[in-house]
Amino acid sequence: MTFGTEGEIMTTTSAGIHHVTAIASDPQRNLDFYAGTLGLRLVKRTVNFDDPQTYHLYFGDDAGSPGSILTFFPWPGARRGRTGVGQTGATAFAVPEGSLGWWIARLVSHGVEHDAPTRRFGQPVVAFRDPDGLPLELVADPRAGERGTWDGGGVPAQHAIRGVHSVTLWLARTDATARVLTEALGFAHVADEGDRSRYAAGGGGPGALVDLRVVDAGLRGAGGAGTVHHVAWRAATDADEVALSRRVSAMGLQPTPVIDRNYFNSVYFREPGGVLFEIATDPPGFTADEPAESLGEALKLPPQYEPRRAQIEAVLPPIHLPGAVPAKEA
Ligand code: ZN
Repeated sequence: MTFGTEGEIMTTTSAGIHHVTAIASDPQRNLDFYAGTLGLRLVKRTVNFDDPQTYHLYFGDDAGSPGSILTFFPWPGARRGRTGVGQTGATAFAVPEGSLGWWIARLVSHGVEHDAPTRRFGQPVVAFRDPDGLPLELVADPRAGERGTWDGGGVPAQHAIRGVHSVTLWLARTDATARVLTEALGFAHVADEGDRSRYAAGGGGPGALVDLRVVDAGLRGAGGAGTVHHVAWRAATDADEVALSRRVSAMGLQPTPVIDRNYFNSVYFREPGGVLFEIATDPPGFTADEPAESLGEALKLPPQYEPRRAQIEAVLPPIHLPGAVPAKEA
């Protein structure tokens, strides 16, 4: 049993990572990399609700499960950012034990440079970057097999990515961020290794892990293509989201009101280390506006933009799944 900021029993906790959202430049190149090279499912093709003339692309597993989702705001021509203090410095995907060798060959055959494999908390890790320079990792985790996958992207099922494994936050100091994770969101400190402290939600395991890493405070991050915009933590219900948001407020932080994101309800706040956090509900999920079988195939717009569909479609650059015939040339 854990206790929250005001001594109440902490009955509401986050189950871990809901999604990670990053910035990209060219949308087709982004789609080719994540749905092609990495073999993720495009689970939603929509627009940036705050800038509806640009895409918001969601990648994940077969069902678009919370914890499998990496999303992008691709702004054509976006200036490249710089990963540094106050950001999510790396996003790691889980792959099955024994699959890392297959993945290294896959990256090499697709012309993706990677670092030499290392071990972290006993697990093999390989680091690489997406075409915009976003730092990514693959972690071979024995519990990866418990999670959903997608075998429609050209990666054999036995090797396919099994959701987000963990995120690493780059911080000048970790204490205040650690307090938010433990006292507001219900994470627990589980391990230390070098300059890295690991926190886990619920039963831990892939999708429930966040590492806090102390980085030289001079390495300030700058937003832009190839950087993470925010990381979202799961709330099981709307009521849980409100409870978690209240605890964030009680720590003197300033969460936004609940915002309807169509596929989840969201609250955003800047944690003391500078990283933008979101709390996102598991329901209603990505089948809210299209069937599970055809997730990601059609451009979906929230109700407020549906009357402007023709204008929006006219300005969005055409994109197509890797291997598909571009619509305009069909
Ligand atoms: Zn988000």
